[in-house]
Amino acid sequence: MVLLVTTAAELDNWRATKPGQRIAFVPTMGALHAGHVRLVERAREIADAVVVSIFVNPTQFGRGEDFDRYPRTLENDVSLLDGLADVVYAPSVDDVYSPDAPPAVKHAGPAGSEFEGAVRPGHFDGMLTVVNRLFDIVNPDVAVFGQKDAQQVHLVRQLAIERGGPEIDVVPTVREGDGLALSSRNRYLSSQERSAAIAVPGAVWAVSAHIHEGVSAALAAGRAILAAEPLARLDYLELVSPADFMPVDDTFHGEATLVVAARFGATRLLDTETITVPKN
Ligand code: AMP
Repeated sequence: MVLLVTTAAELDNWRATKPGQRIAFVPTMGALHAGHVRLVERAREIADAVVVSIFVNPTQFGRGEDFDRYPRTLENDVSLLDGLADVVYAPSVDDVYSPDAPPAVKHAGPAGSEFEGAVRPGHFDGMLTVVNRLFDIVNPDVAVFGQKDAQQVHLVRQLAIERGGPEIDVVPTVREGDGLALSSRNRYLSSQERSAAIAVPGAVWAVSAHIHEGVSAALAAGRAILAAEPLARLDYLELVSPADFMPVDDTFHGEATLVVAARFGATRLLDTETITVPKN
C-alpha cells in the first residue's frame, strides 16, 4: 500500500524508518497520466524508495491562468501510484509555504525569461521556489523530471548544481498513439481541438525531417505545419542549445533541443525533442 501523507512532519517520520536508503523523488501537480507513471517507474529503477509529491503550486500560475480549474484527482492519483510509489506527499499550501517562515524565492535568470518564461512571466521563479522547497522537505538523493518540460529541466539542473544536489534524472516524452505528448491539460481540449493538436507532434516531425536542410529551413517547415492548422496559434518553435537554452542558428551542429508551444483555444500545449543538427 502506498502511504499518503500531507505534512512534512509525517514525511520525516517515514524517512526515519529508511536509514541508508537511496530515495528518489518525483514532483508532480497530480492529474496523473502514463507520462507521470513512466517517471515513477524510472524512479523505482534507480532508488530503494520513491516519494511522489502532488501539489498544485499557486506561485507558478499567473493571474488569469488555470490555477483554480487545474484538474485535482487525488483519489485516482493515489490508486494509480499504489504498488509503484512508497509515499505520496500531498501537502496543503501552508505546509509548503509556512505563513511564519516565507521560503527563499529562487530567480530563474536569463534562461528563464525566454520561451515559457516570456509567455508566462514569473512562472519559473515560482517553479524553482517550490522545487527548492520540496527538495528541502523530501531531501532526495535523486529527482526525476520529464523532458517534455525541457526549459524546466534546464533550470532545475542549475538549481541542483547551486544547492549541491540532488542528482537530476530525465525521462523522454511519453506520447499518445498519434504522437501527442501526454499532458494533464489535454483533457481541456474539445474533440476538434484534440484532432487539430496532432499538428504539434507533426511540427516536431517536420523539423526532424528537414534538419538536413539547415536550422532555419527546418524551423520554417515546422512552423508551416502549425500555420496550416486553423485551430492552432503558435507561441514559439525554436531549436535551442542544451548548454544555455538560447536559440541556435545555421552555423550550429550537434545535439539541439526543439521546443514548441502552441495554443488550441484556451489550452497551451508543449512539446520537446532532441534533434541532431548535422554538419553541412
Ligand atoms: P506536472 O504534473 O505537469 O507538473 O508534471 C510533473 C512531471 O511529469 C514533470 O517533470 C513533467 O515534465 C513530467 N511529465 C509530464 N508530462 C509528461 C510526458 N508526456 N512525458 C514525460 N514526462 C512528463
